[in-house]
Amino acid sequence: MVVVGGGLIGCLVARELAHDGHRVTLVERAKVGREASHDAAGMLAPLAEAVEPGPFLDLCIESRNLHATLADELFAEVGTDVWYRDDGTYLVAFDDTEAAALRARAALHASLGLHSEMIPVEIARREEPALSPLVTAALSVPGDHQVDNRKLVEAAALSCYARGVKIVEHTPVRSLLRDANDRIVGVDTTAGPIDAECVVVAAGSWSSLIGGFSVPVEPVKGQMLMLELVSPPCRRVLRSERCYVVARIDGRVLVGGTMERVGFDKSVVASAVGNLLEAGREVVPSLGGAFGGEAWAGLRPATPDDLPAVGQLGENLIAATGHFRNGILLAPVTAKIVAGLVRGDAPHAAAELLDPRRFSPSGSAA
Ligand SMILES: Cc1cc2nc3c(=O)[nH]c(=O)nc-3n(C[C@H](O)[C@H](O)[C@H](O)COP(=O)(O)OP(=O)(O)OC[C@H]3O[C@@H](n4cnc5c(N)ncnc54)[C@H](O)[C@@H]3O)c2cc1C
Repeated sequence: MVVVGGGLIGCLVARELAHDGHRVTLVERAKVGREASHDAAGMLAPLAEAVEPGPFLDLCIESRNLHATLADELFAEVGTDVWYRDDGTYLVAFDDTEAAALRARAALHASLGLHSEMIPVEIARREEPALSPLVTAALSVPGDHQVDNRKLVEAAALSCYARGVKIVEHTPVRSLLRDANDRIVGVDTTAGPIDAECVVVAAGSWSSLIGGFSVPVEPVKGQMLMLELVSPPCRRVLRSERCYVVARIDGRVLVGGTMERVGFDKSVVASAVGNLLEAGREVVPSLGGAFGGEAWAGLRPATPDDLPAVGQLGENLIAATGHFRNGILLAPVTAKIVAGLVRGDAPHAAAELLDPRRFSPSGSAA
């Protein structure tokens, strides 16, 4: 089997398929785990992202629930602690309008049977002393967790090696290869063809540049700021209307992120970084005392309806792409769904929602 793309999705898919006894080759255009999966914040946030009940929310919660076990497995397999943390998230407000929005969100969560609670701001500040004194209201969302996505994708790649996956780097896949009956028989790469009885396309924002792969995916740029402090200013993820603040346990603090539909542009723009710094300091004023930092931009893979495309496109072609803002969250469940498709298991509850054929006029073309 060939998996195209060595981001978190491709690595976890390859790892799962290898676990099921398949001979897997993972083909990566550059180096494994250096694109969106490296550039993300690592929030595992089904509740903060929840807008309505339904299979997508269920999928997000199912995948969040897989992360703790995945972290344990990776530690046991390759010795990497991926810094999975279930301390939760605070959504914070600075005025009455924002506080009303938080109360509405709490009501939405309650109507969906999800747990979140408006907490007195003194308690929020006692729990997270670095919170700005200007915060007027806080919604505690204990079910939204976090992980260090860079450690996670590195560990996933190491686990692939440990499970016998052949990882081929610096080898872009140009197109899918088909036989005279239109069956997928492998991929054409810059280093020559690779035969495969099944191909999984997990090439993130670049998926639709692969010849013969028809799912539309476009990049959505996100600029991110990282600041270095001597120790983490907060345990929870802190989110305002303008930014999120995610502190790693080594004192690095991520402030993100912009949302820009500007094609394959990964430039970092000073004004965007300035806005992120200002938004971050509004939530955690001590970020102004950071002694170092870095800024970058990454590309979120988005389909036209902003939902992932995970499923069969033909007998032996599977899409695992388009995870947009939630690919770190959704990677474990995606790997399970793809492995289930290959085994011929009963369809996952979200199969229809994720069906990659929904974008083709006939509803069936690859
Ligand atoms: C700023 C930012 C913040 C984010 N924050 C979060 C967050 O907090 N939580 C969350 O859940 N998600 C977050 N995301 C989204 C998440 O990062 C993505 O949804 C996820 O990483 C997508 O994983 P992927 O493996 O599909 O793509 P990628 O990690 O981009 O990997 C795709 C891989 O395919 C390779 N490739 C491309 N074309 C080819 C080819 N032709 N041949 C071979 N290889 C190829 C690429 O080189 C790359 O390595 C964020 C994204 C950004 C940009």
